[in-house]
Formats: sequence, C-alpha cells, structure tokens
Amino acid sequence: MTAAAEPRDRLRALPAPNPDPVGALPPQPWMRAPETLAVFDALRAAGGEARFVGGCVRDALLHRPVRDIDIACHLTPERVTAALEAAGVHAIPTGIVHGTVTAVVNRVHFEITTLRRDLETDGRRARVAFTDDWTADAARRDFTINALFCGLDGAIHDPFGGLEDLYAGRVRFVGDARTRCEEDLLRVLRFFRFLAHYGRPPIDPDAVAACRALAPRLTELSGERIRHELFLVLLAPDPATAVLLMRDTGPLAAILPEAGPVGRLRLLSWLETTALGIDGVDPDSVRRLAALLDADRAGALAVADRLRLSNRQRGRLAALAEIPGDLHPDLPPRDLRRRLYRWGGETARDRLLLAWAGAMAEAPRAGPGVNARWTALLEAALAWTPTDFPLRGRDALDLGVPRGPRVGELLRAVADWWEAEDFRPDRTACLDRLRGLARDAAGDVRSTT
Ligand code: ATP
Ligand code: MG
Repeated sequence: MTAAAEPRDRLRALPAPNPDPVGALPPQPWMRAPETLAVFDALRAAGGEARFVGGCVRDALLHRPVRDIDIACHLTPERVTAALEAAGVHAIPTGIVHGTVTAVVNRVHFEITTLRRDLETDGRRARVAFTDDWTADAARRDFTINALFCGLDGAIHDPFGGLEDLYAGRVRFVGDARTRCEEDLLRVLRFFRFLAHYGRPPIDPDAVAACRALAPRLTELSGERIRHELFLVLLAPDPATAVLLMRDTGPLAAILPEAGPVGRLRLLSWLETTALGIDGVDPDSVRRLAALLDADRAGALAVADRLRLSNRQRGRLAALAEIPGDLHPDLPPRDLRRRLYRWGGETARDRLLLAWAGAMAEAPRAGPGVNARWTALLEAALAWTPTDFPLRGRDALDLGVPRGPRVGELLRAVADWWEAEDFRPDRTACLDRLRGLARDAAGDVRSTT
C-alpha cells in the first residue's frame, strides 16, 4: 500500500478547483420523480446535503438515457442509513466500509455514497476516510466528466472542468493520469470504456502514456472486473477504435491475448447498430467478444473461464468460435433450414452475423446484391420457429421394436431422412418410414439367425 498524497496537496497539484455552480441542468423527469424526492427529503430531514453524481449527470447533460442514479452525500453511511429508515425508506448496506448505502423506493435503486478521500491505495483496493469536502471527493473520482455534481435544483458543480471536457469529447483523468492509474489499475480499463462511449480525438496523451506504462500490470485485476469493463467497451456503438488503441498501448495483450484483428468487430458493430436496423439484432457483448477473438473452441472456453463468464455466455462464446467455412450468402434455403434445426435460431443468427462481418472484413468490396442475400439469410433465421421431430421412442416400442439401443438407432435414421426431406414429412409419414425400417431391421435379424 502506498499512502495517498494528502488531499489538499493533491488538489494543489490540480488546476484550481471551482466549487461554485457553473450552470444548471434543466429539470429531468428522474430528478422530479417521487422516489428521488423521497430520498432527498429523507437525507435533508437529517441535515444532509445530497447531490447527483457520475453517470446520471454526465448522461443527462448529453441527452442520453439515464440508467442508474448515484448520489453523493456528506453524511456518514450510518447516518444515511438512519435518515432513510427514519423516513421509511428501505436501506441496504451495500458497501458500508466504502461508504455506499443503497436506498430502494418503489423498486427504484439509488446508490448513496458518502464523500470520501483516499488514505491508502495499492492498485486494487483503497482505504478511504469520509469527509465533508465535496472537492476532495471529486478529486478521487476517475475522470473530469465523472466528477460532475448536480443538486436537486439542477445546479451543476464542476470542480475540474468536466463540463467542457464532456462537450469536447475529452476523457481526462482528474489529476496526474499515471498516479491515478497506479492508485487503481481498473482505471486503465475505465479509460478505454469512457473513451469508447464519450471520447473524440485528440486523445489525451498523458492518459495514453499512463495506460501504456501500466498495461502489463492489468493481469493483477480479477477476471470479473476485467470482464465488466471489457464488455462495456465492447458495447459502445463503435468499439473498434478504442479496442485498436487498447492494442496499440498494450492493455489488450494483457487482458485478452487471444484477440485477433479488429476488422470483424468493427463491421459486426456497424451491422448491429447502423446497417441493419432489424428487430432481433442488437449490440451484444458476447457476440462482439467472439468477433474480436482469434481462437478455436478451446481458446474461447479458456477466455470464458478466465473472464468468469456465466455458463450461458460461455456456451455462446464457444459456439461462436466455430463458424463453418461454408456459411456464405448463397447458402441454399434448404441448407440454412438444416443449420437452423441443428444450431437453434440464436446460434444461427450469431454465426451468420459473424460470417458476414468476417467476409466483409476480408473483402470489403462485395459484389452486387451480396449484402441483400446476407440480409435475406439473416431474416430467414430470425423468422424461423423450431420444428420438433414428430416421433418419440415410444413410437418404436409401440411398433414392437424391443427396448434397447435399436430404438435410438431407428429414430436417428428416421430423423436423418426427415431432415434430408427438408422437415416436410409429417408424423404419419415418419411413422411409415419407421415401420419400414423396423421391418427391414427385423428381417435382417431373422436372416442372420
Ligand atoms: P454508468 O453509466 O456505467 O453507471 P458511472 O460513471 O455512473 O457510469 P459507475 O461505475 O456507476 O460509473 O461509478 C459511479 C461514479 O463513481 C463514476 O462516475 C466515478 O465518479 C466514480 N468511480 C467509479 N469507479 C471509479 C474508480 N475506479 N476510480 C475513481 N472513481 C470511480
Ligand atoms: Mg453509475
């Protein structure tokens, strides 16, 4: 652990922070919501001042949808909890040592974090002290655009020039980039996340230098935390530029040595967000990760385990590491139906998208009509509904086939025929086929005895 510089010293190293309001956010529906007012009223009744902070302020300023609401308050977590409970608001002790209490009103969650300053940091964890100094709290936040506070009245407090940075697309660390990344290595990945979602060139050279210097140490982070940030990078509308910078500066090799060229990811993202506009094709972190990987099934499973993907995500990633070479835009409908039956609609959709993006990455100038043919395949895959094989083992037993491996063999033979017949034969036709095969089989048995 290294002792963090005294907050006042650290602040002195920064441009003079401005504690006064710099503007106002027009009233937002989530600021006026009864749930929000209940939380602010509860804190105010206990003598607390609260301000919105982080993502909600940043995104509201950009007219982007606000997902979760973070609130900063100078009351200690114990007093926040007492204040909420006194007002009948449910309080969850989410991270009391770190100062976070979650308030829940009508199922709406608010993360309320006590103002903090760092005492010690080791690159992964920080020991913090609570404070009533708003500027000190802003100084320990990662980027200027994340260090914006907003009162219930809409007044914006912007100690480090985050507003200007936000509008200019400048992702800039609060204070010295290298120091801030050494305090918490996750900030290296957060830099690329915020760059992907909010950044525009020119990219801050100090931040890039810090990320380059600390990239080899990213292996110290847990798989979960890496996955969380990596997925958020990948979910940006166009993640490829940020991922390319992650490659050029080193973090990509540290956290994902299995990554291949970014062309397929770039084109997949373009298909998902811009080109297609089809229901059922939205940005998807696992599909995008698959687009970035240059790995076989075993390699994909290793990535999934290292980054602690859920079982479902793991299965999808492994399936998407295997894209058959014959998945091309002229695939006959009949062959597509066969694949849909074998893979299921979701895997077929994802493999088609990846095959299409991969084909475009290899040969950017597609011939006339190629994209229309890919689109038609994809639409057919999305419209597909699973067809059930009409027979069960019981049907073979009813025909007098003795219980045993023969039942499965016969059913498989009928299923292969049903598939080859393009799934058209109905139950009666399948039963006839089964009867015929069972009879032949019985004949074989008789003729060999
Ligand atoms: P999102 O829209 O993803 O919720 P967010 O900015 O709210 O974006 P959170 O991860 O919820 O991101 O964090 C809330 C705020 O806490 C951030 O805006 C930032 O001020 C601060 N913060 C979070 N993680 C760090 C970190 N590792 N180092 C410094 N400050 C951080
Ligand atoms: Mg947040």
